[in-house]
Amino acid sequence: MRVTLLGTGSPIPDARRAGPSTLVTADGLTVLVDCGRGVLMRLVAAGVLPPFLDGLLITHLHSDHITDLGDVITTRWVMSPMPRPFTIFGPPGIDEVVRHTLASLAPDVQYRLDHHPDMHEGPSVTTVVVNPGDVFTLGSATITVGETDHKPVEPTVAFRIEVGGKSAVLGGDGVPCAGLDQLCLGADAYVQTVIRDDLVRMVPMARFTDILDYHSTVEQAGQTATKAGVGTLVLTHYVPAIQPGQEGEWRSLAAAHFAGPIVLGDDLTAVDI
Ligand SMILES: [Zn+2]
Repeated sequence: MRVTLLGTGSPIPDARRAGPSTLVTADGLTVLVDCGRGVLMRLVAAGVLPPFLDGLLITHLHSDHITDLGDVITTRWVMSPMPRPFTIFGPPGIDEVVRHTLASLAPDVQYRLDHHPDMHEGPSVTTVVVNPGDVFTLGSATITVGETDHKPVEPTVAFRIEVGGKSAVLGGDGVPCAGLDQLCLGADAYVQTVIRDDLVRMVPMARFTDILDYHSTVEQAGQTATKAGVGTLVLTHYVPAIQPGQEGEWRSLAAAHFAGPIVLGDDLTAVDI
């Protein structure tokens, strides 16, 4: 199984970092988790064309995690040589978001259907609302849904993807909680979005410091990783963005709480588990 950080950015635009999105690939599985800004540019850079996506998992409906939903739906559709159904899994509310996204795409869909005689139908999208405790299959994977704590944002979920005895947990946004601990138990990889509270506190703007109460810090991600006994800790969604040369500093903050391998870096950083 390979976990590729397609986008390691956050809502704040960054010239070097796409928005939050992670690709998980394994024998018989190509799945995207969240679809932030610029996701398809990074997807092709990772060597995957949109039609090969088996599905899309959404952890929550914060804009930075879903900005490119329309692009994923449209581009996968127009690049597929024949109709290829697409399933999007997410917490309650994802159905409404997908429905409205499809509605916004209606003019474009009609333009293309009118212009290309070989296209007879619009994008075939199925939305599946998931809740903590749900287990479903996608391609070769068994996927378990877990609870996260990103309050006051609700509902939010995390996903544990298991293929051929390997497992990766995509924790999404949030602070440590029992649901996340349980989902991560013994996972080979644990991907967590993180912030640096010491740096965020230095910005004298309430709109920025407000984010402190609902995101794991780098240290907390290390603590969760140790508590759950995961194999590799993967950090993403850096707030603020890691500047060149700061990687070691970020790594050491997590390493103070987790003795295993820690993966972080630029977009397209990947780890095989
Ligand atoms: Zn969020």
